[in-house]
Amino acid sequence: MLFNDIESLRFGYESHLFKVVRAQLGPNFPTANLEKTRNLLNIRRKDLLGEAVRVTADLLPEVHKIYQTCLDMIGGGLNGDLFVRQSKEYNANVSAHGKKFDLLIHSALLKDFEPDQLRFVFGHELGHVIFEHSCFPVYEILSDPKGISPDTANMLFRWTRASEISADRVGLMCCGKLGAGVTALFQTASGLSGIDEDLMIRSLQRQYEELEKRVREVHDDFSWICTHPMIPIRFKALELAALDILALRQGGGRKGFQKVDQQIGDILDAIDAA
Ligand SMILES: [Zn+2]
Repeated sequence: MLFNDIESLRFGYESHLFKVVRAQLGPNFPTANLEKTRNLLNIRRKDLLGEAVRVTADLLPEVHKIYQTCLDMIGGGLNGDLFVRQSKEYNANVSAHGKKFDLLIHSALLKDFEPDQLRFVFGHELGHVIFEHSCFPVYEILSDPKGISPDTANMLFRWTRASEISADRVGLMCCGKLGAGVTALFQTASGLSGIDEDLMIRSLQRQYEELEKRVREVHDDFSWICTHPMIPIRFKALELAALDILALRQGGGRKGFQKVDQQIGDILDAIDAA
């Protein structure tokens, strides 16, 4: 394993929300829910075997090697398969039960993304597994919301969004290039590829700046936000943490992410609380 303290990469605001969610659902919830997540993984695997194609070393050697490198880098005994399915959408997702998982990538990513961008995407999805984000399967929990208060439901959504930032950090650990991570985010959000990297970065930078300005100016009226503007926030969180993550990747010391986590956590908190 390249990095033996993956936990310290976790976004501080996610850790905070995780504790809130766990307290609200009860400390036994993840254990009580084990059977359910195991079943979900089994159902999902059956679907994948039926409707997608498993990526093996002989079928797609390059892609498989990239995937395997990410898996080796993260370590932690993770054990799972990579599947690809036909789709023009830039998307990927993972389902997991403990250390077991299945990762699905859409074919458009394999066609249009560079190897380093794929490393970011694989690392991001494996980040969800290593951080055990599946222990609170939000959509399943809320599909049967008996006993779940609106406040808990809200906290679950907030935590899910924050968990994307933790997963991005593992993505950056795997690819080692901020540009690859940022362009992967941009392309996933826009559905566009082939744009100059500097232009993509500047575009996300401007959107983040506008968002931050509006959050500062409009303290109590967030009605202008109809969805959660996560892409510019994920961009900024990645950019601010990048130097430390890349130093860690080289085996350097850890300065910690408290300052970054505070800044990004404050923005999310302001939007979430609206
Ligand atoms: Zn994710």
